[in-house]
Amino acid sequence: MSAVLVINSGSSSLKYQLLEMEGETVLANGLIERIGEQAGSVKHSVSAEGDEETFRNEEPVADHSAAFRVMIDAFEQHGPSLAENPPVVVGHRVVHGGKRFFEPTVVTDLVKINIEDLSDLAPLHNPANLDGITAAQKAFPDVPHVAVFDTAFHSTLAPSAYTYAIDAELAEKNRVRRYGFHGTSHKFVSEAAAAFLQRPLGELKTIVLHLGNGASACAVDGGRSKDTSMGLTPLEGLVMGTRSGDLDPAVLIHLHRKAGLGFDELDTLLNRRSGLVGLSGRGDMRDVVEAAESGDDAAALALEVYLHRLKHYVGSYIAVLGGVDAIVFTAGVGENSVAVRGRALAGLERLGIRIDPERNASPERGPRVISTDDSAVAVLVIPTNEELEIARQSLSVI
Ligand code: ADP
Repeated sequence: MSAVLVINSGSSSLKYQLLEMEGETVLANGLIERIGEQAGSVKHSVSAEGDEETFRNEEPVADHSAAFRVMIDAFEQHGPSLAENPPVVVGHRVVHGGKRFFEPTVVTDLVKINIEDLSDLAPLHNPANLDGITAAQKAFPDVPHVAVFDTAFHSTLAPSAYTYAIDAELAEKNRVRRYGFHGTSHKFVSEAAAAFLQRPLGELKTIVLHLGNGASACAVDGGRSKDTSMGLTPLEGLVMGTRSGDLDPAVLIHLHRKAGLGFDELDTLLNRRSGLVGLSGRGDMRDVVEAAESGDDAAALALEVYLHRLKHYVGSYIAVLGGVDAIVFTAGVGENSVAVRGRALAGLERLGIRIDPERNASPERGPRVISTDDSAVAVLVIPTNEELEIARQSLSVI
């Protein structure tokens, strides 16, 4: 039996999952939060035969090394035994791989230096990912560690899709270009869509709509990313929970000159105080839809703006791909929001896109079709599984 441990390390959190790869089943998963604060929170869930038992605990967790000790303790106390299910590889999510990393990569000292060097492009994420890798190497010194990059799937973007039309020399010097994110999810979901439709991946033109707290769209042509809505950072593109997505860059200049906002304030504005939160005071799509349905004008407008932007990208990606075979919804909003799915693709019948309202409203989980039988384009809901994709890719390189 081969087990893989998947690590997603944030600045103050550590998410982990232990998978058994023969049946691709989850043995346990956990989340350690508020690392470095006075009170930490620890959640460890053990899966067995379809059931999941969860253990919670509050204890201070000083840093990432301490978080790994807490994780190993949780395995010892609640199972499954790491001695009986020793991970053959530890797979790490790393957000920014820049131009350098376009494949899952076995971590060496040089790889770590390169991840560090990319920190200016992802200051919140890459240093935290690195802390996780270093602590994991100490905790599991005898197995290979593999980095799987969020940007990697988009390394197939053509220069026309990734180049910003600004001073070329300045952009090159400062590594300013579009990179794209959520690649692990877009890859997993577009491959799962082809398998679900029983069509060869190489022939399929797919638009993946990954709608979570962060959200991005991806035009996938024959299994390769051809365009995606996030850019230099995960700020560009769709309207998100707290992020603005696309806007005229002159808005920043205007707000700086007119309202006196400095760089840090603009950063906070666009990343934390915009999107659904900025427009309606609510960042969770469930709350926005509920408020909009009960007559809250700000929530209704937030939803309209969100849907308009989504439709804008769907139309644009049909043009980029030269047609589309499947449109796939995934992540928190995409997998759960009947209202968002139905309304985002309403009125596109002339493009061959027809949603079946009953299929769309079905409480069924798992991969499913929500378009009508006579819809030329298959519209699907496919739950994403980034941990499984990281585990598969990590295993594939050792
Ligand atoms: P993350 O980007 O943090 O991984 P997820 O993919 O888990 O996020 O998505 C979380 C978001 O999904 C929540 O903020 C919420 O807006 C949305 N969501 C979850 N369940 C529902 C639901 N039933 N209806 C609408 N939106 C939902």
